[in-house]
Amino acid sequence: MSAVNLLGLDAAALQQWLADLGQPRFRATQVSRWIHRRGVHRFDEMTDVAREARALLAGCAEVRAPAVLRDLQSADGTRKWLLDVGAGNAIETVFIPDDDRGTLCVSSQAGCAVHCEFCSTGHQGFSRNLQTAEIVGQLWLAEHALRATTPCDESGRVISNVVLMGMGEPLQNYDAVLPALRLMLDDHAYGLSRRRVTVSTSGMVPLMDRLARDCPVALAVSLHAPDDALRDRLVPLNRKYPLDALMDACRRYLPHAPRDFITFEYVMLDGVNDGDAHARALLRLVTDVPCKFNLIPFNPFPGSPLRSSPPQRIRAFASILAAEGIVVTTRRTRGDDIDAACGQLAGAIQDRTGAASRASARLPRIEVAGEQR
Ligand code: SAH
Ligand code: SF4
Repeated sequence: MSAVNLLGLDAAALQQWLADLGQPRFRATQVSRWIHRRGVHRFDEMTDVAREARALLAGCAEVRAPAVLRDLQSADGTRKWLLDVGAGNAIETVFIPDDDRGTLCVSSQAGCAVHCEFCSTGHQGFSRNLQTAEIVGQLWLAEHALRATTPCDESGRVISNVVLMGMGEPLQNYDAVLPALRLMLDDHAYGLSRRRVTVSTSGMVPLMDRLARDCPVALAVSLHAPDDALRDRLVPLNRKYPLDALMDACRRYLPHAPRDFITFEYVMLDGVNDGDAHARALLRLVTDVPCKFNLIPFNPFPGSPLRSSPPQRIRAFASILAAEGIVVTTRRTRGDDIDAACGQLAGAIQDRTGAASRASARLPRIEVAGEQR
């Protein structure tokens, strides 16, 4: 029997699993605090757990995050881990420090099946869903590695925010993502506020409704186009869930949302979606959806003919939205010197193993968090 990886069990599942082993209810809280709050992975170090229980756990359980292939630190404090998830698949986790917060960008899948035209992860194709333990493992590994080098906040943590904006479409891996979100919020695990955990989706409408019911965290929706014709091309999922349905889903999410707005992400593509007319059409689209816009300069990758809009175009686009009272932020690139914004390492590793040889331009972009106001 293979060992159960406890990083994959949320509070309810851990409690049930321990109860099945004949353990008392409080054991789950004890074990969870050792693992998630203190970063301990050896059961013999869990000193307030009864000796027999420690031996029992050591015989049938483990605490195992994905293996680190590379650990890179940027001059600006950004840190990136390249993690091995088996069969030649690598994923990325990126930490971005800011004055008032530390944000971790987490991956939810190896590759992605949505195939957005501007996204290098999408160009890689889809390998597989990550398991809960692999998603939580990114946070566990990063938080406890960072504590060795980075000042904690008053709660004793380094990571104050998590965004599911790494590789993959989180709502296409809902069953594994949901327990991971619950652990992020759990006071005996990471204790993050709902407002500081963000799921980013390309528009999985039915799962947005489920998320609202099951675990309403902050929501970012990758919009990228103001009309169906253009969005069908840029985000192929739009053919299944067009803009009307997506906007309705946003309106249904809002009463449950921990913040009173939806964040719309909009990648700025030169001559494609960045005209004044696009900005005005966006204003009509979102008239009754309280929202903020996050404009993301396109990160080019080899094999893509797309280019980023020039800075003055991004500013002009932003000012059309801002003139109607919408808060607009423009994302700035962080960790350039370690490719934290683009995942070139994941591509290189996959090339070498040949496991994902179907795509030559597979440089997944991860650009997160650092925002200019
Ligand atoms: N699949 C989810 C979350 C991961 S992508 C989603 O699409 O929302 C996270 C963000 O990065 C999305 O807004 C996505 O549109 C953006 N992105 C992807 N490729 C990019 C690129 N080459 N340049 C800039 N942003 C990109
Ligand atoms: Fe997948 Fe998001 Fe990339 Fe689209 S932008 S291909 S949904 S990871």
